[in-house]
Amino acid sequence: MIPSQDVVIVGGGLTGSRAALAIAQKYPHLRLALISKVHPIRSHSVAAQGGMAAALGHLDETDNWLDHAFDTVKGSDYLADQNAVAVLTQAAPPTVRALEKLGVLFSRDEEGRIAQRPFGGHSHPRACYAADKTGHAILHELVANLLGQPNVTLLAEWYVLRLIYEDGEVKGVVAYCLETGTVAAIPSKAVLLATGGYGRVFGTTSNDYASTGDGLYLVAREGLPLQDMEFVQFHPTGLYPAGVLISEAVRGEGAYLLNDRGERFMAHYEASQARMELAPRDITSRNIALEVAAGRGIGGGSYVHLDVRHLGREKILQKIPFAREEGLRLAGVDCIEAPLPVRPTAHYSMGGIPTDPDCRVLDRHSRPVPGLYAAGECACLSVHGANRLGPIPCWNARCLASGPAKPWGGRCWIVPSPRFRSQPIKSKPKGRSPIC
Ligand SMILES: Cc1cc2nc3c(=O)[nH]c(=O)nc-3n(C[C@H](O)[C@H](O)[C@H](O)COP(=O)(O)OP(=O)(O)OC[C@H]3O[C@@H](n4cnc5c(N)ncnc54)[C@H](O)[C@@H]3O)c2cc1C
Repeated sequence: MIPSQDVVIVGGGLTGSRAALAIAQKYPHLRLALISKVHPIRSHSVAAQGGMAAALGHLDETDNWLDHAFDTVKGSDYLADQNAVAVLTQAAPPTVRALEKLGVLFSRDEEGRIAQRPFGGHSHPRACYAADKTGHAILHELVANLLGQPNVTLLAEWYVLRLIYEDGEVKGVVAYCLETGTVAAIPSKAVLLATGGYGRVFGTTSNDYASTGDGLYLVAREGLPLQDMEFVQFHPTGLYPAGVLISEAVRGEGAYLLNDRGERFMAHYEASQARMELAPRDITSRNIALEVAAGRGIGGGSYVHLDVRHLGREKILQKIPFAREEGLRLAGVDCIEAPLPVRPTAHYSMGGIPTDPDCRVLDRHSRPVPGLYAAGECACLSVHGANRLGPIPCWNARCLASGPAKPWGGRCWIVPSPRFRSQPIKSKPKGRSPIC
């Protein structure tokens, strides 16, 4: 039997783990359970490669949150919620610094500052990264910190089957333990869904096998709406034929996209002439599709080449080691010697569970559903509009930007409900911990 909770977080990726840590640290009297169908460090977030955008202004002192906000809104085809974008782009630099303070090993520039590199659609170099293993570096640090929190119960390899939704409010979840087969109702004053995207509905995708849109199902099952489901981002450089991602960081480091004639075809299209390989993802994906449709895919096939040979062995091994490893392992190509075969792959779900900037899930009349919150890739705030600029997703919730108790506008998502003014937890529940 799992005791009733103050907060249940469904999902242990960057979103769920960050939210759990922030809540556990700010509100040590709250009882919190983090439920994840895979162990948190196996969440899809661990695959995030290229970095997280923040206008720190290290490489380019003229960079600032306004430019970051403008790039984000422009990249979204002007469909993003501009208030949300302003909040998130201002929150990005303190978020990166907070993660650094937590222990995340970001890559450094020559002067020892957090390194920043260019990314598609960004007008300044502002992606902060840990080589090409950024998600791995951040998630491991978050989970390591989370494990030491006395008020957090980790239910790893537990599968949430449905919400407990009665009288118009969410009162907990029903979950299934994969190891024992136990089905348990877990009452909770609040439920935060951080269940990730739905990329697995596509045949060619960069997403892991767990990205099946479960949070969206949980919400839709109760008759609550979903939003902008048609907005799915295709990443231009999925490794052919596997679909796994060759990070945008590779183009950030200077890779060329070549057609069958060996031409850098991005120069042939007006929308990408200025930024070439660093044009936004939708433009780059469309251009690849147009080249293929015109018969200029490699050998007339459905892919083009991503060429990094001119970067040289040392830079490839130092800056993009994982991309090389993927090419070797999944396509049998060593990118030091030969170009990688790539084509667009379903990558990021911009649509999802409609929320306000406090992560409150909205019903079809745009009213918050008491007790239900959503954040991360499963949520639709909508900060990405029709097209997300990489790399932004980890902040598409207030609770992630600076922790729930450092609110914007004097509020934070965990505080408003009087239901949280519960009795302090004096100690952890006795008996065997339900941690799997
Ligand atoms: C290859 C790749 C590279 C990327 N690189 C970058 C990058 O460089 N920068 C960037 O910002 N973004 C990047 N992204 C996007 C980014 O990784 C994701 O948007 C982000 O990690 C999503 O985090 P999340 O916490 O919302 O979800 P996830 O990390 O997908 O976590 C979902 C969690 O929910 C749990 N869960 C789901 N359903 C259930 C259920 N029914 N019951 C219990 N638990 C459940 C899972 O176990 C998991 O713990 C990349 C994506 C891919 C595919």
